[in-house]
Amino acid sequence: MFTPLDGRSVVVTGGTKGIGKGIAAAFAGAGAQVLIVGRDEAAAEQTAAELPGVSYVLADISRAEGCATVAATAVERHGGIDVICANAGIFPSVPLAAMTEADLDETLGINLKGTILSVQACLPALAASGRGRVVVTSSITGPITGFPGWSHYGASKAGQLGFVRTAAIELAAQRITVNAVLPGNIMTEGLAGMGEEYLRSMEAVIPLGRLGTVAEIGSTCLFLATDEAAYITGQTIVVDGGQVLPESPAALSV
Ligand code: NAP
Repeated sequence: MFTPLDGRSVVVTGGTKGIGKGIAAAFAGAGAQVLIVGRDEAAAEQTAAELPGVSYVLADISRAEGCATVAATAVERHGGIDVICANAGIFPSVPLAAMTEADLDETLGINLKGTILSVQACLPALAASGRGRVVVTSSITGPITGFPGWSHYGASKAGQLGFVRTAAIELAAQRITVNAVLPGNIMTEGLAGMGEEYLRSMEAVIPLGRLGTVAEIGSTCLFLATDEAAYITGQTIVVDGGQVLPESPAALSV
């Protein structure tokens, strides 16, 4: 039995949709006070209305001022910050040969720089908590696998793990743990945009035979935020239905 998270203050960047919404739902279900962050007000309003215990703030987490707004809002509304789930991210597809500097800046700016800036902005409050938790949403793409069109995305997701490992050491003295969840293919609004053919081709190579759910990422983040996970830091958990395991398609024909 895990210690309840009643009343803990949780920030979920990108919590207005997809995986972040699943993370917000998991924490809200565990009794936490959750602040979700996005740029699209209609989605933010709708998610906050659907999930009791969840409120929203609009901010661009690729900018330091946006991240400062997020941290200040959480402290003002909840009296502090115990957990930040740095989840906001984008995955536009573009082949390396056609990639512009603007493409690169956008993906690295939101996924990598935005992760670092959003965690950095929450540091004083996380330290004051005495049991601060950072949970980063990375991906299997980059740290473990590759996919055409996602060289910049893969670099951003692998880069997040470099951040996690050093931040875990730097923040250990303040009893803040820093870990990452690596989702495989999880059914979200964002992934739906990749089209039916992409979704079916992914399903076909997942040993468990289906895409993941946002609730399955939410419960993993929730675990990393519990008191019982206090001794886990600088680590990664892959949540992918076994997608990274087969050595070849033949491995799936048993
Ligand atoms: P999604 O459905 O498109 O949701 C992305 C979320 O991030 C939205 O809430 C979006 O809100 C927010 N966001 C994007 N840019 C932002 C910015 N600059 N400032 C603030 N919020 C921003 O995507 P998802 O599939 O849930 O992906 C979420 C995370 O999981 C990403 O980091 C992604 O790399 C990772 N991931 C996803 C999968 C998958 O299969 N879905 C697999 C591996 C990893 P606004 O648009 O309103 O800003």
